[in-house]
Amino acid sequence: MNQVYLNAWNTRGTIAYGVAEILAGSENPTLQARARRLASCGHLLRAHPDGKLSPAYACGDAICPCCGGRRERITCQYINGLPKLLAAHDGDIVSACFTVQNVTAHNLRSELGRINAVFTNHFLRALKYRLGTASYIKKLEVTQAVDGKAHPHIHAMLALPHRWTDNYSMLTMWQDAGRMRDIVPDVYSRGVPPAEVIRELRYILKQPLRINRRMLNDPSFILAAATSLYGIRTTSAGGAFRQFAVSRSQSPVAHGPHDRVRLEWTGTEYQPLPAALASEAGPW
Ligand SMILES: [Zn+2]
Repeated sequence: MNQVYLNAWNTRGTIAYGVAEILAGSENPTLQARARRLASCGHLLRAHPDGKLSPAYACGDAICPCCGGRRERITCQYINGLPKLLAAHDGDIVSACFTVQNVTAHNLRSELGRINAVFTNHFLRALKYRLGTASYIKKLEVTQAVDGKAHPHIHAMLALPHRWTDNYSMLTMWQDAGRMRDIVPDVYSRGVPPAEVIRELRYILKQPLRINRRMLNDPSFILAAATSLYGIRTTSAGGAFRQFAVSRSQSPVAHGPHDRVRLEWTGTEYQPLPAALASEAGPW
């Protein structure tokens, strides 16, 4: 087992248990239940034939640093559909990030709802009006800004006609959409060469909140983010991205009969399970 890779998992375990402790300390029974699931998700790791590790029993929580929530399952269908989409699409692939002003953690939930609505009800509608169709995949994400505030934003990949962005700036469309809802918008976009599309889409579809060690010192931010992202659908797609998505039944996931539970969280790091348990699994 590669020590650098194992160290990365030790960091994930530390953060998962740190987050679980913060949620468990709340008065909220839902958060306390999520804390138990996060801790159990980080407890046992399964080793796959390719040497990768994953939680033996994934909790599926959107903020879980161990299993990454349902992200992998959702990401796979769109990644697997990309080759056919690229073959069929005669135009540009554009990666864009749509932002608004940072907000206090207290206002995060309502702001996420607002930018989701601005993107779907105004930006996409304008895109559809101009092109007749809107081929997009979008991901809602939250990071913590240096001032401690929440930075909600949307990453998106768009399949557009050639040079379309030269004719009408996406910034203008986002600003028009945002102004209707009284928010201060910004957008960064760039064309993506075909060879980079898969890597870019993986980046776009990353976890809606990546918790780091520094955030553990700010329990109020963790609690607000955990509550704000709960029950929200952070990924959605339309047009060609949905048309070419490969459903899960056609893309078998890595879990198979050779997978074995190999590592257990000891409080500070992952250790191989005792020999009695590990021997049934055979060599690494
Ligand atoms: Zn999990």
